[in-house]
Amino acid sequence: MRVSKDIGQAELFRGVVALIEEADTIAICAHTSPDGDAIGSGLALAEIIRAAWPDKRVTNLLADKDPVPRIYRFLPRSDTFVHAADYDVTPDLFICVDLSQRSRLADAEEICARARRVAVFDHHPSGDRFWDAGVVRPDAAAAGVIISEFGLHSLGALTPTMAQNLLCAIVTDTGRFQYQNADSEAFETASMLVDAGASPAEVALNVYQSDRLAYVRLATRVLARIQVFAKGRIAYSFATAEDIARAGVTLDELDGLIDLVRCIEGTQVALFLKEVDGGKVRGNLRSKCDLDVSGVAREMGGGGHRAAAGFTAAGTVDEVLAIVLPKLRSLFDGTASNVAGAADGATPAAAPAADVRGASR
Ligand code: 5GP
Ligand code: MN
Repeated sequence: MRVSKDIGQAELFRGVVALIEEADTIAICAHTSPDGDAIGSGLALAEIIRAAWPDKRVTNLLADKDPVPRIYRFLPRSDTFVHAADYDVTPDLFICVDLSQRSRLADAEEICARARRVAVFDHHPSGDRFWDAGVVRPDAAAAGVIISEFGLHSLGALTPTMAQNLLCAIVTDTGRFQYQNADSEAFETASMLVDAGASPAEVALNVYQSDRLAYVRLATRVLARIQVFAKGRIAYSFATAEDIARAGVTLDELDGLIDLVRCIEGTQVALFLKEVDGGKVRGNLRSKCDLDVSGVAREMGGGGHRAAAGFTAAGTVDEVLAIVLPKLRSLFDGTASNVAGAADGATPAAAPAADVRGASR
């Protein structure tokens, strides 16, 4: 089992441990629009550091001004987050969790810039290195896997509250162990966390069985307007600002809608768009096959993993669809040439995106 204390782990964590040991004040922050991995891994890391180095002053930061998403408020100590905009300390150490791209720190970017040292625990393919020490393992299913290993390395055993936060991180980032990243290490780590006191049922109850009716009503609209093209290999749907305002849901409640789009049989690539504040559209991209959607996300100004990536782009749903659908189609060029050129109706070239979506509004 990879989650064990051994010489390799000591080597892996040596740099971060040295930074923690020489710091008094430590700020921990994950990415903007935090998900279960961002929230759970950050909380667990803070608890691990407090347990292993009791004299450190550790603060969990939220990168944005929004509160902790409702479905993650059951997590232990989730009420202790401080908004980055309200944190005026210059920390000795700033630890990025579940991100290795500075721009995704939003309001916390300037705290990271003024911190004396910077560390990273992440599992995204990283860009320019801006940290002094860290562990970036794109093969890890979640940042929570790496933090679990760090906790075992630092403490020998995890508390039930650490375990609960970390199990939530792994369950959500693997889509309940259904995505391609659900490898044996994710299962082994989850098993260890359940042994340490984590409750899978409590994670499921709060994250997957606590939808508000308002959300479900909006979800039915999103389901009803799913479109497929490229011989069914690409599926997409969207929620407009008007849909969201009319339903009375918060943006973080919509994070699960991409999973509805990816459910269609034969679909290999799924896209969900939602109109957010400031005339922007947030996109979620998923691949159910070997095709890498992170390149399209990067071209759209975002990033992420091969099979799960995202972006934020200026414009309306119609405008962004018109740009992103041809890029998705081109993913199939070469790998499925009969698909790219197929006369299959609703191609963005054959029909403007506005027409494509108009029929299903
Ligand atoms: P989601 O679609 O759930 O928001 O994100 C899927 C994955 O892509 C996550 O691992 C997330 O961290 C990453 N991701 C989402 N949006 C962005 C973005 O704008 N930039 C980068 N670099 N990564 C993103
Ligand atoms: Mn993650």
